[in-house]
Order: sequence, then structure tokens, then C-alpha cells
Amino acid sequence: MRKRPYLLSCHCKRVRFEVDAELGELLDCNCSTCARHGFLHWKVDIGAVRMLTRRRGLTVYHLRDLHGGHHFCPNCGVGVVRTGYLDGRMSVNSAVLA
Ligand SMILES: [Zn+2]
Repeated sequence: MRKRPYLLSCHCKRVRFEVDAELGELLDCNCSTCARHGFLHWKVDIGAVRMLTRRRGLTVYHLRDLHGGHHFCPNCGVGVVRTGYLDGRMSVNSAVLA
């Protein structure tokens, strides 16, 4: 059984991070980008996310504004987080729980 903090990673494990938050409500968004990626949203406070690998290892597809977007591994292409929400939180792809 998984325990907090939850460990998450992309497929190739170049991107690894942990989230210390309650694994609560998930959202299966059907927007044009989420549906293509199979992104299963888990909204958390930004401070709950701790990168275990270098943040520069991520590539960003900017789809909302200059500061937010879809962050994914440039090696295996798996989307791991989304940023740029007005509530100051970020969305973690719960489908990448390790
Ligand atoms: Zn990867």
C-alpha cells in the first residue's frame, strides 16, 4: 500500500518527485490536451511537491499562459504536472504514481 509522501515518476524515471498531500478527489479531464495525454488530475498545494530530480529535466508545453503549462519528460514524453492555475495550486498526474 502506498504511503505519504507519494512517489511519482515518468516512465523512464528521468523525472521523479514526491507529493506530501492527501490522495483525494481526482479529475479525469476531457479537454483537448488532457484527453490526449491520459492526464488524471490531482490538485495539490505547490509546497506539497518536492522534486527528486532536476527541474530542468522537464520540458513545458505552454497552453494557458507564459507561466503555466503541461510539464513532461523530454525523453519518454509522459506528462507529470500542470501549472498556471489561478488558485495557486498545481495539478499532478496521478496516473504516474510509482
Ligand atoms: Zn521519462
